[in-house]
Amino acid sequence: MVRRTSANTYLWCDRCRRSFAHEEVSDEACPVCAGAVRPVGKFEALARGFMANELTASDLRSRHRQLIRLIWTRNGMGEQYYRVIAPDVPYNRFEARVTDLLARGAEEGWVRFVLPPAPSADESAYRVEFDDEERFVHELAALFAEPELAE
Ligand SMILES: [Zn+2]
Repeated sequence: MVRRTSANTYLWCDRCRRSFAHEEVSDEACPVCAGAVRPVGKFEALARGFMANELTASDLRSRHRQLIRLIWTRNGMGEQYYRVIAPDVPYNRFEARVTDLLARGAEEGWVRFVLPPAPSADESAYRVEFDDEERFVHELAALFAEPELAE
């Protein structure tokens, strides 16, 4: 039997249903909920984590959002939109707001993100398509309150 040292165990929180590395935990308390944690083997932590969906939705969500941002800003498109619209916000906030708008568009069905079936070196395989470009232009204008473009 393998001795359970900090090198080969993780600390498991029953309440949060996830594991932590020893260095993330002090006083044997979960860094998230402050509940008690107990050491489990690496394999057990992994298996339990999978069962508890340790790949948390928030992590997937933020990476999904990041992917959307990378797709619509690629080839300098982000900067080009920024120059054309000339919004009264710094570029990074512009980027975040347009990313949110496109995510909403995708949810509502007037924007589509096209991905290759597997990760590809061909960047053109990743693209955003508009079912309704007018809608996008209007939403974009409204987002940054351009009086001459907004309806
Ligand atoms: Zn916890």
